[in-house]
Amino acid sequence: MTPVLELQQVSKQYGEFHALTDINLTLHEGEIMGLLGHNGAGKTTTMKLVLGVISASQGEVRLFGESPTGPQADMLRRRMGYLPENASFYNQLSGREVLDYFGKLKGVATGAQSELLERVGLSHAADRRVKTYSKGMRQRLGLAQALLGYPKLLMLDEPTAGLDPTATHEFYEILTELRQQGTSVLISSHVLPGIEKYIDSIAILGAGRLLAVGTPEALGQQAQLPLLMRVHGSWPDVDWRQQFSEQDVALLHVNGTRLELSTPLQNKLPVMRTLLAQPAVQDIELIPPSLDDLYAHYNPPRVPSK
Ligand code: ATP
Repeated sequence: MTPVLELQQVSKQYGEFHALTDINLTLHEGEIMGLLGHNGAGKTTTMKLVLGVISASQGEVRLFGESPTGPQADMLRRRMGYLPENASFYNQLSGREVLDYFGKLKGVATGAQSELLERVGLSHAADRRVKTYSKGMRQRLGLAQALLGYPKLLMLDEPTAGLDPTATHEFYEILTELRQQGTSVLISSHVLPGIEKYIDSIAILGAGRLLAVGTPEALGQQAQLPLLMRVHGSWPDVDWRQQFSEQDVALLHVNGTRLELSTPLQNKLPVMRTLLAQPAVQDIELIPPSLDDLYAHYNPPRVPSK
């Protein structure tokens, strides 16, 4: 099946400046991809290339198999929805009027607005002026705007910046529903906590280069990041250092009722066997590497040069 989006060896230069270099990305139907990177990494530039508002200096961008700057550009744009970073609306208009306005711009038949407002949980505020909306409500309205015309691809630029954890969770729940209906989503973010369970794959950009791409599990294995185990029980007489003397284990915290250790992922079973051999062990929590850990591994903070 033709991928929804494909970038092949894409580079973008502004004069001498290389904003993107040799980017290869593929997004399939019903996939949610997180495009992660520091400020200036190239996330918005990537989205602009897909929107067709700028052209690649080298390489090919394919949207539904076509070039977003080619003769099919208008048709392609109608099949996608975009929520820009810092989207702003006419404050004097109501949510419904904002959608009417953007619907006309996009050439979408009116009538779907009520359904979209309901889908993003804004029915109760549909006729209130946008100036009375909270940040979370504005982002939901932005999402409703991006959903006009039932796009097959959604591109969301930092949609959860400034949202509290509950609003962020609700926002991602809506995306999960859309994914189930086959919508693909490219979402840029540098707010990582909490998003891992909603995304299928991640692409990490650093200084315009693709540092890693794949599922969080595959990248975790490739990075060989350690697994954290938190063990609860009561073991006044157990010498854990001695118990693990033959295993590749780092003891991070030990007291009479709690033990925290880290070990390479491939040691999970032997370490668990050692733990389970102690009747005093009551519970074992396995804490895999977080998205933050992955991001820091592939995109380590730069040490400022003196
Ligand atoms: P942020 O998280 O801050 O939004 P970003 O990852 O979206 O960052 P981009 O906006 O894609 O970053 O910018 C990537 C780089 O390209 C930056 O260094 C930026 O200054 C540069 N850049 C973007 N547009 C232009 C332009 N029109 N002319 C020159 N440089 C540009």
